[in-house]
Amino acid sequence: MRSSDIRSTFLGFFQERDHRVVPSSPLIPSDPTLLLANAGMNQFKPYFLGETIPDHPRAMSVQKCARTSDIENVGRTTRHATFFEMLGNFSFGDYFKPEAISWAWELFTRHYNLDPERLWVTVYLDDDEAERLWRRVGVPPERIQRLGMEDNYWSMGIPGPCGPSSELHYDRGPAYGSEGGPAVDGERYQELWNLVFMQNLRGEGSGKGDYPILGGLPARNIDTGLGLDRLAAILQDAETVCETDLLAPTFRLVQELAGRAYPGRDGSEASTSFRVVTEHARSIAFLIADGVLPARDGRGYVLRRLMRRAIRHARQLGVGEPVLPALTGSVIGNLGGAWPELERQSELIQQVVTAEEEGFERTLRQGSRLLESAIGRAGSTISGQTAFELHDTYGFPIDLTVDAARSAGLTVDEEAFAELLEEQRRQAHRAAQGRKGDAVARQDLYRRISAEHGLTDFVGYDTTNAET
Ligand code: ATP
Ligand code: MG
Ligand code: MG
Ligand code: MG
Repeated sequence: MRSSDIRSTFLGFFQERDHRVVPSSPLIPSDPTLLLANAGMNQFKPYFLGETIPDHPRAMSVQKCARTSDIENVGRTTRHATFFEMLGNFSFGDYFKPEAISWAWELFTRHYNLDPERLWVTVYLDDDEAERLWRRVGVPPERIQRLGMEDNYWSMGIPGPCGPSSELHYDRGPAYGSEGGPAVDGERYQELWNLVFMQNLRGEGSGKGDYPILGGLPARNIDTGLGLDRLAAILQDAETVCETDLLAPTFRLVQELAGRAYPGRDGSEASTSFRVVTEHARSIAFLIADGVLPARDGRGYVLRRLMRRAIRHARQLGVGEPVLPALTGSVIGNLGGAWPELERQSELIQQVVTAEEEGFERTLRQGSRLLESAIGRAGSTISGQTAFELHDTYGFPIDLTVDAARSAGLTVDEEAFAELLEEQRRQAHRAAQGRKGDAVARQDLYRRISAEHGLTDFVGYDTTNAET
């Protein structure tokens, strides 16, 4: 089943059950507490909180999501991406567990025709009701597992609505990991669909990120998230998300540019690099199309980091020439039909990636020398100081250093690095001016480019939610 059919099957199924389609929100959320849209529920938060009453109590969407928290997994697991589409159905104080569970089962087994024998279910520790409902649709008790807060209690990662969840997993077989169910092996038993029983509220707490559960929401709601890449991988019998029709043309192009074939899922650095380059190209195109431009912090830094990682992994595959214009071009060609903003902003995307790649070439030439000598000098660990210097003086993102170190069999003292970074933040933008004439010049260029393209919302500067 092609990904376009997966989307339309999902929407058709829930339309028949009285859900109204709501377009994806942009990757830049209207919620100021959120860096990037990371789930379908984001745009519905006011409904769950009871702050706004929706016109209709049932919704469905195909939401563009970005998750940098998964960046290190990309190319190493078969299933993680930094950008993906999340299919979701939502109930705002309307239906609850019985419908959410029986519909999910019906859609999976009768419309996507997934083999029921390969489906496993997880429920939250004390959720007897969910377990009973799964048994009622026919899931045998030995394929239902109970998991704790970490896996089966969903939150946005910030104060807001939350609740216990129940997930559908697909057994990909022994080639992917060990037996024993999702509690044992997340690669073999791939999590496909998360049904969240949105009923509680997390508050600010001490302000140190503990976000305690304060109590119930005004109503009981349903929020679900089904990863399109992952379902496509199963339905298309693709080993990794790169081999699905969502990414395959870009994946092929990476191999063409590298002049060699992907070695398969063999655990090698090259295998990872092929997949990182492919996956990041998609995120880069989507972020720029939604108005994110490279910057020193916030969302713009997320984008810059993705571009730099993609370039570095392409270099490791032996590609000497610029890669991002061609790769993002292939993403636009492949996904521009489903996501017209890619087509609309294709010129902007090309200009931004071209400028950034040229700038990064200069950075790489300077930084690589320092990095190589640091790797040569280091015993088993690169010091936080060295990593910081690379970051601060040469604009080398920490994960590039970690990555390069890992390739050489070394680790990086990331804790010491984080302390130095924090120290620098406390001294608030001390050296931010003056330094990096190059980067500053490029910021001006991006301002000009974005004005030309009618992007009113220049987001490169006004975000303070910096990532490292
Ligand atoms: P995992 O445990 O595999 O990291 P998750 O529990 O973090 O996934 P959820 O927050 O429950 O994911 O998101 C709902 C669905 O979105 C998942 O079941 C999965 O299908 C999809 N999804 C989540 N993260 C990613 C990702 N990084 N890349 C691709 N799809 C994802
Ligand atoms: Mg995750
Ligand atoms: Mg999970
Ligand atoms: Mg989950």
